[in-house]
Amino acid sequence: MALTITSECINCDVCEPECPNQAISMGETIYVIDPAKCTECVGHFDEPQCVQVCPVECIPVDPDHVETREQLMSKYFGLQVQAARPAPVEMVPAPLDQIVPE
Ligand code: SF4
Ligand code: SF4
Repeated sequence: MALTITSECINCDVCEPECPNQAISMGETIYVIDPAKCTECVGHFDEPQCVQVCPVECIPVDPDHVETREQLMSKYFGLQVQAARPAPVEMVPAPLDQIVPE
């Protein structure tokens, strides 16, 4: 399963930098976890790193995103491939000599 952050979150900012998958970000009012990126830390660590550091224990498993360890490992490999892929051409900045000053 991916994990989720409950409304008890106190926005302490501690978990976000600990996530090896960049799955945690600031939402509208509290931090949120992107289930497409959360592998429960499978592939990186033995234990979910966000759970380890959260001072108020507000990061349970997300019952809406039930996944086996094999599925989490597969997600991990998918994320690794995505990270290694070159940026799409439109996102590559133009060489400096092609940038026309305004
Ligand atoms: Fe990130 Fe791991 Fe927490 Fe999932 S369990 S949000 S991958 S730190
Ligand atoms: Fe919220 Fe816990 Fe993350 Fe702190 S560590 S921002 S309380 S989820």
